[in-house]
Amino acid sequence: MKNTSPTSEQLHIAVVGAGPVGATAALLLIKQGYQVTLVDRQEPQPGPMGLGMDIRNVALSPASAQLLKSVGVWPQAYAAPYDTMRIWEHWGTNDLVFDATDVDQSALGWIVQVSPLLAQLWQQLHLHATSNGPLSIVLGQVQNIVVPVKTGDKVVLTVEQESAVNHVSVDLVIAADGAESVVRKSLDVPAALIPTGQMALTTVVRTEFAHQNTAWQRFLLDGPLALLPANDPHLCSVVWTQSDTSCQRRLALGDEAFCAELQHAFENRLGKVQAAAQRQGFPLRQQLAETAMPHSRVVLIGDALRVVHPLAGLGVNLGFEDIASLLKIIHANPHFLLGDPSSQLNKFARQRHLRSESMLRALDGLKRLYAQDKPGISWLRNVGVGVFNSQLWLKRQVMREAMGLTFR
Ligand SMILES: Cc1cc2nc3c(=O)[nH]c(=O)nc-3n(C[C@H](O)[C@H](O)[C@H](O)COP(=O)(O)OP(=O)(O)OC[C@H]3O[C@@H](n4cnc5c(N)ncnc54)[C@H](O)[C@@H]3O)c2cc1C
Repeated sequence: MKNTSPTSEQLHIAVVGAGPVGATAALLLIKQGYQVTLVDRQEPQPGPMGLGMDIRNVALSPASAQLLKSVGVWPQAYAAPYDTMRIWEHWGTNDLVFDATDVDQSALGWIVQVSPLLAQLWQQLHLHATSNGPLSIVLGQVQNIVVPVKTGDKVVLTVEQESAVNHVSVDLVIAADGAESVVRKSLDVPAALIPTGQMALTTVVRTEFAHQNTAWQRFLLDGPLALLPANDPHLCSVVWTQSDTSCQRRLALGDEAFCAELQHAFENRLGKVQAAAQRQGFPLRQQLAETAMPHSRVVLIGDALRVVHPLAGLGVNLGFEDIASLLKIIHANPHFLLGDPSSQLNKFARQRHLRSESMLRALDGLKRLYAQDKPGISWLRNVGVGVFNSQLWLKRQVMREAMGLTFR
């Protein structure tokens, strides 16, 4: 008898949002043999540049690097490895130091410029978007999503394009449309918001002393200040978390005054801050959607599911974990979309929600701990750091977790 069951090429998945998370998800699904429609408002635009590099940078873990490389993407010339992370605080006497050799790795991670990363992802996407290829790219804005009531019916996305409104019918929607996800909002999924009262000021600076492939982070009372290495040993990208008012004031400073404040806040660890690029401010929030699976044929990933504080550089990395977790389920049962996929996707949703909750709680706790100005608490923090530094097994565990080496 002839086998008439559809193959994975006949199952159709839409990915909404082609930021780092959605674009990577689309490439991996194509690799698994799915027919994919990728929807984004527009192709990525080059970000603001300064001192020869993109001022938007993300720290990517070894697990994330591996995922990108598996789809042929790695912007080598724009990815600076860091083998050490050095953390200290406002009143601190002890530095907390993480070294890649402690976990037998050559790097703890890479600081990657966002524009070249997105450009490479899209270059790879275009290779698959040929007339008979497995990928359709739809440039337009998703306005609405209608989910089926009956098993077997399709999910329908309404996409507004320049001169038309189109409908895309698919077996599964993966929403990677960022913190303001229209898919999440259309399905009335509440998202719990943890306000931070903070903004992140980002820029690129030139320093007198070389950064030594180290990610430097000083916890100040109103938020952490990070100087992250670039491929040029004297260039660092800056992520400076602070109160809204301090951020507005520092955005308005002249270059010389800004460099002097940064150098002082950084305790001159890299000598004189000699030049700064254009500065940008981002309001910060932490947020978690009530569920990662609002319907048996719709899942949320990346910032559409949760937004975390940038202090641990985890946003994209958690989004990549979402993809890996979803693909594991798909890989175990490529035909899961033929029947009712809710039991498999529920497993994904539960795992990812729990992981997001624990990360949000940990980051919120860390932020609060370092905002405490009481001398007793500061003393305790310093003792804690000293003890932690001496417990290599504990440090290794934390490092393996942060590097995505424990995530399976
Ligand atoms: C200051 C700062 C520093 C950070 N540092 C780090 C770091 O070091 N490491 C790290 O891992 N993360 C970091 N992050 C977080 C990281 O930037 C985000 O987690 C990441 O961009 C989320 O990726 P995403 O693909 O889920 O969403 P986005 O990057 O937000 O992409 C969403 C995409 O969806 C599209 N879209 C949205 N709505 C629609 C619609 N209705 N129709 C069609 N398309 C739509 C958008 O055009 C966009 O392309 C940082 C964030 C900030 C603010």
